Order: sequence, then structure tokens, then C-alpha cells
Amino acid sequence: MGMSQPRLQVLHGRGGVDLEAARRAVADLLVALGKDPDSEHLADTPRRVAHAYAELLTPREFNLTTFPNDEGYDELVLARAIPVQSLCEHHMLPFQGIAHVGYLPGERILGLSKPARVVELFARDLQVQERLTQQVADWLQDHLAPRGVGVVVEAEHLCMSLRGVRAAGSRTVTSALHGVLRDDARSRQEFFALAGIGS
Ligand code: ZN
Repeated sequence: MGMSQPRLQVLHGRGGVDLEAARRAVADLLVALGKDPDSEHLADTPRRVAHAYAELLTPREFNLTTFPNDEGYDELVLARAIPVQSLCEHHMLPFQGIAHVGYLPGERILGLSKPARVVELFARDLQVQERLTQQVADWLQDHLAPRGVGVVVEAEHLCMSLRGVRAAGSRTVTSALHGVLRDDARSRQEFFALAGIGS
């Protein structure tokens, strides 16, 4: 009773990063940009960039820890302001911000640290914010079978703020809802209010 039941998850069938090929490609990119990758200042840049992209594209594996909901807890569980760092698939530039992940428990509840790991699982990829938001919500729905799921992501996209499409600091907000949080207006409003989103 109350024992955790870790299950090892096979988290991603995504192709791994070929660091050496990435390093060569970054050196080629520097040449294409009119820079000299053999100069003293840039000598180690291709290797560093390759490692940085590898880190941004590789989620850490984790055990999905769930617990039986023995107490019959039936109120919203909300993890607020989970840091999000991802890469926009259109420009390969970062977008970053925060995610709010909530669910209405069914028969099982999720380990407290797990919403952040689920966000990371999908954020460390070439992404668009809408898909990232939906994937986190779908994953929780599929693996936890809660009565409802709500995910909100607020992020600033470097590709937008750099190019002046929007003022720097402007954030894009996306949301994805399942179950009671989608279908019941009061539950939905409670979720958005607790997440700090006016709705
Ligand atoms: Zn972009």
C-alpha cells in the first residue's frame, strides 16, 4: 500500500546524435557563413555547438513512478512553472519559458518530480510549441489514465524576438486539455486560474 511501482519506460525511438558528423557540419556552416573554423577563436566551436545541440535534443530517461490513489484524492494536482527549454524546428533556435501541468487523479497519482520529466521528454527535440503542449497532455492521458489533464506552456521564441516579429519578452501561450478539464467549464476555469492564466 502506497508503494511506488516504477516501470522502466522506453522513452524515445529517436535517432541519436552523431557528434562527429555534427561537428563537421558546424565547421562547414561556419565556412558558409564566411567564418574561418580554423582560426584560434573558433577552433573548438564546432565541437561545442555539436555537444550543445546533442544536449538540447536528448531527454534524460526516467522511471515513471506512480502510486495508488488510496485516499481517493479527487482534486486538481498542479505542477506550476516547470522550466521549458526547447528548439524551434523552423529555425533551430531555442524557445523557452514555463509549463503548468495539472491532472485530476483517477486510480493512480504521479510522483511529484515526474511532470517536469515528461515536459523534458518532449521539449528536448525539434519542436513547435503547440505540438509540445499536446504531446505532454497526450502522454499523461495515455500513461496515467487520469480523469482530466491540462497543460499550459508559455514561452518566448528567440526566432521571433530576434527578428522583431514581436517585441522581446512577448510570450506565446498554448494549452491542451483532456477529459473533465476539457469538458467541464468549472474544472477548466479552476485549472486556468490556478495556473495563473486569465480565462
Ligand atoms: Zn522559429
